[in-house]
Amino acid sequence: MGEIRLDKVHKTFGSTVVIPQIDLDIADNEFVVFVGPSGCGKSTLLRLIAGLEDTTSGKILIDGEDMTARAPAKRGLSMVFQSYALYPHMSVFGNIAFPLKMAGMDKAAIEEKVRDAARILNLTDYLERRPGQLSGGQRQRVAIGRAIVREPKAFLFDEPLSNLDAALRGSMRLEISELHHKLQTTMIYVTHDQVEAMTMADKIVVLNAGYIEQVGSPLELYRSPTNLFVAGFIGSPR
Ligand code: ADP
Ligand code: MG
Repeated sequence: MGEIRLDKVHKTFGSTVVIPQIDLDIADNEFVVFVGPSGCGKSTLLRLIAGLEDTTSGKILIDGEDMTARAPAKRGLSMVFQSYALYPHMSVFGNIAFPLKMAGMDKAAIEEKVRDAARILNLTDYLERRPGQLSGGQRQRVAIGRAIVREPKAFLFDEPLSNLDAALRGSMRLEISELHHKLQTTMIYVTHDQVEAMTMADKIVVLNAGYIEQVGSPLELYRSPTNLFVAGFIGSPR
């Protein structure tokens, strides 16, 4: 569960080619980081996987099943955004519970799942608060809680920490890594921050202008970058 394959994925917006062609295999429970400069296509690629954008051509397979034409809600994935996208008028409980209510789950089951997620994310004491009464880090945890309760096959994170200050980013990085450890679920994490990539990833995918420059473990990219772009981006001494 949680194996993702991109097969000749190609994406254009009008006459602009954003993703010329990408082939990629992501294993179950892998923590994969898409890294690259602003505008290189990271968010587009994530949105294609989520189904928030349609591929122009090519296929997206999840656990061997062709999901290319499947609606986002039917793909079994949870996405977490930089902007949190919380409902300001709802409590933390309400925000985390929202996808379960939408799915028609009964009250007792919702209560249990929300409390489990809150425990994992240290939000138990904040369930009655509104998002406006929380710190940035707590808000991002609520957004992650809302993703967790759906028990997705994979989590998709789009620069989830870029609104936080440097100190908080460091601790949230650790929290997300711990979460990966606890949940044992595939995670795809988009960032333009090479420190995040190097410290969190099992596998880094370096993107440049919609192409994959290199795929490898942090150590592989550091020791043997295939070109100057990767070397420059990863900050190795080549
Ligand atoms: P990143 O997340 O790496 O910063 P994006 O995936 O957001 O990059 O964008 C990649 C390229 O695709 C950019 O040149 C951007 O302007 C373009 N792009 C993204 N979304 C759209 C859209 N809906 N319509 C037209 N162009 C888009
Ligand atoms: Mg982006």
